[in-house]
Amino acid sequence: MVKAQVSLEHMYRVFTKPEHHDSKLAQIEQHLSDNILDFLSQHVVTKKTSLEEIEQDFSDSRVPESPEFVSSHAESLLDKLVAHSVNTYSPTFIGHMTSALPYFHLPLAKLLVGLNQNLVKIETSKAFTPLERQVLGMMHNLVYDESDAFYEQHLHSARHALGAFCSGGTVANITALWVARNKILGPQPGFAGVARAGLNAAYQHYGINNLGVMCSRRGHYSLSKAVDVLGIGREQLITLPCPDQTLDPAMALEAGKRYQQAGNKLLAIVGVGGTTETGHVDPLDELADVAKELGCWFHVDGAWGGATLFSSTYRKRLKGVERADSVTIDAHKQMYVPMGAGMALFKNPEDANAVRHHAQYILREGSKDLGATTLEGSRNGMAMMVYASLHIFGRRGYELLIDQSIEKASTFADMIDRHPDFELVTSPTLSLLTYRVCPAAVQNKLAQASDEERRIINEKLDRLVVKVQKQQREAGKSFVSRTRLEAPRYPDYSMTVFRVVLANPLTTHNDLAAILAEQHLIATTQPLWQQLCELVDSDTETAAASG
Ligand SMILES: *Cc1c(COP(=O)(O)O)cnc(C)c1O
Repeated sequence: MVKAQVSLEHMYRVFTKPEHHDSKLAQIEQHLSDNILDFLSQHVVTKKTSLEEIEQDFSDSRVPESPEFVSSHAESLLDKLVAHSVNTYSPTFIGHMTSALPYFHLPLAKLLVGLNQNLVKIETSKAFTPLERQVLGMMHNLVYDESDAFYEQHLHSARHALGAFCSGGTVANITALWVARNKILGPQPGFAGVARAGLNAAYQHYGINNLGVMCSRRGHYSLSKAVDVLGIGREQLITLPCPDQTLDPAMALEAGKRYQQAGNKLLAIVGVGGTTETGHVDPLDELADVAKELGCWFHVDGAWGGATLFSSTYRKRLKGVERADSVTIDAHKQMYVPMGAGMALFKNPEDANAVRHHAQYILREGSKDLGATTLEGSRNGMAMMVYASLHIFGRRGYELLIDQSIEKASTFADMIDRHPDFELVTSPTLSLLTYRVCPAAVQNKLAQASDEERRIINEKLDRLVVKVQKQQREAGKSFVSRTRLEAPRYPDYSMTVFRVVLANPLTTHNDLAAILAEQHLIATTQPLWQQLCELVDSDTETAAASG
């Protein structure tokens, strides 16, 4: 490796002058602009290299002593990193919520990084601040549909915030519950409020033992992080069982009352608008009633599913979301924005003041600086990507994308249902579904099996699903994820299932058929498959002998 000079002159050059125009970096750039897919398919086919082998390339813990030329470093990145990264653009990569991006984000990303605006403060972002506020306004409008006068009054008001732009759904959920906490344990005569006085003083003042957050077992693990960082404690995250995959309002009401009667205060009910594991939507309208009756905050986690609101056909599946005090939406999921784009939206634009912070040198009172009400400090201009997407797709463009995803999921569910050796475990409410591979005869057997027999078979099936999922991933042609969950058909049993998220608009029905065929082929060649079939065969023989 050619070492660069250790001189200030060289450092200055790194800041300013690009190396010759056919340097490795320039080639990468050209290649990217020519065709991202081509670039990925050339460099990002999953190589059969184990993680342990890759770790060898990243094993030196010392900071490199001497500078390296940019182009030679770029070369090493291609070799060590890019070649072993994941082709999330592939239409057969259907396992996760973030996938392919529309092409226009590449040049925009260059602009974003090039300008390097800091949204914490107007002094370092100028026009980016009103842009971000407008984006929050548009998303607020999508959820809450308030009057023109409302938006005219609040969109650019220094004393209000329609939401908080942040790096993702996790921070958005934390932000929303932070606002809720500071409101629910707010200042009163003789008490400065939890934000100033802390939790201990707040619990004493309000005469409570604990503060709790309630959701179903399908609530995202970011909620558990939220109650942890907010000091409430993970034990106060009340997760209710949900055999039907959604939070039951009657059960929520009862659990809430019981919690309150035990001397606690309920901070919030969280309804999920598209759970991460199965894509189900909690009954938001009914949960809004429950929150009202219990006198707590109502938050909707629409990190993934919130974008369904773009669709006039399917937005009713999120009915009641407009009654939430706060709503989380990730633009980096179904809005096809690069990662690092989440939003917490507040129904009441005054609410964000519950977390307002000032600092003399930076966030002076009365300023419109966004940093005063966001958890994060320095933040890039990612809102520009959302702004551009909202314009380039328009509501109707997004609607087409959302509709086709949901319809494709429904077609895929039919394909699974019709296939004798697959079992649909949860059908799609939106564009996410779970299923497993299971020989047809074993499915019949399960229907009449005793609890004990069922457990034995299900355990074997779990192992089969894991094997198939791993082998498919390792083969590198396609990727489906997996999770464990309880499904209505086999209550009290947490089964392993394939999980599919249809995110990439370019995934075709043929792709889906090929994925099923590959899984079937892998499954039928497993010894476990044989064992499962023999279980059933021996039964038939016994039955024949005794009959
Ligand atoms: C993805 C997701 C989150 C977390 O969002 P990040 O952007 O990954 O931080 C929270 N809730 C739900 C329902 C999600 O799907």
